[in-house]
Amino acid sequence: AKQMGANQFRYYTEDMNASALRRIDMESRLRRAVENRDMQLFYQPVISLETNRVVGAEALLRWHDNEKWIGPDDFIPLAEETGLIIPLGKWVLEEATRQVRTWLDDGIDLRVAINLSARQFRDPQLGEHIVHALDRSGAPADRLRLEITESVVMDSAEEAARILGKLQSLGLEISIDDFGTGYSSLAYLRRFPIDQFKIDRSFIQELGRHNESEAIVIAIIRLARSLGLGTVAEGVETESQRDYLSRAGCDLVQGFFYSKPLPAEDFARWFADYSKD
Ligand code: C2E
Ligand code: CA
Ligand code: CA
Ligand code: CA
Repeated sequence: AKQMGANQFRYYTEDMNASALRRIDMESRLRRAVENRDMQLFYQPVISLETNRVVGAEALLRWHDNEKWIGPDDFIPLAEETGLIIPLGKWVLEEATRQVRTWLDDGIDLRVAINLSARQFRDPQLGEHIVHALDRSGAPADRLRLEITESVVMDSAEEAARILGKLQSLGLEISIDDFGTGYSSLAYLRRFPIDQFKIDRSFIQELGRHNESEAIVIAIIRLARSLGLGTVAEGVETESQRDYLSRAGCDLVQGFFYSKPLPAEDFARWFADYSKD
């Protein structure tokens, strides 16, 4: 073991250097991408189970890097760590509100949801950024929905309640994302100014396969009802999942069963086609 020690150490540091270098490289490419706006929002339709109509869309960020698309799971954590998420999130807000307005002008009236990370949610300037984006775009505040994960709001819940109250007073809708995967305190939930639970994909995918997931989905929908909140299920991939959610009284759905997230122009075409009959 002793003779191997030096070698191992060498490999270890080479490894470390390689990954540290990759990280630094990624950070500078990301910084440039944020500055150059090599980012694009894709939109996934949200459908009402009651009317079968498209009532909204979730904006999902993509990074166009070297001719390929990089998904948010591969760069949001780094953006969050380095603080780049603040200018990036600001751009997302501006871009999404501009899109809301453009679609409205084209007769497409949708509520567009954007995702907020932990650091954005705690940023004291968030309210200002939102007001600015709404003013600049002329988008009505109630067409914008903010999705914040359960774990982010439950972390120092008192402060979160205050921030949520401020956001809601601007007229926005608030959705608790990935609901059911964290540890929500029911006492807080009751007092949080929120509008909707977004049921996590992991539960939807197990519908019809695991009784526990069905029980959880039904419990979430009941809880939402009794608190006067709406429900949206994400990751709906099959007709039977859609039918199950419809019977269970879920309000809204989104997922590959309807459409993947699409660039805005493709979304408009998909929307026209879907709304034809
Ligand atoms: P999320 O908010 O839970 O978003 C749902 C993810 O599920 C998206 O992945 C979406 O493309 C994917 N999805 C939608 N329908 C289906 C389906 O039927 N089946 C399957 N298997 N997947 C489906 P995506 O776009 O890769 O986003 C990953 C995460 O990145 C999001 O999770 C969200 O937390 C985060 N994110 C995306 N855009 C932004 C953003 O602008 N800002 C911040 N802070 N985070 C973002
Ligand atoms: Ca989301
Ligand atoms: Ca999710
Ligand atoms: Ca998520």
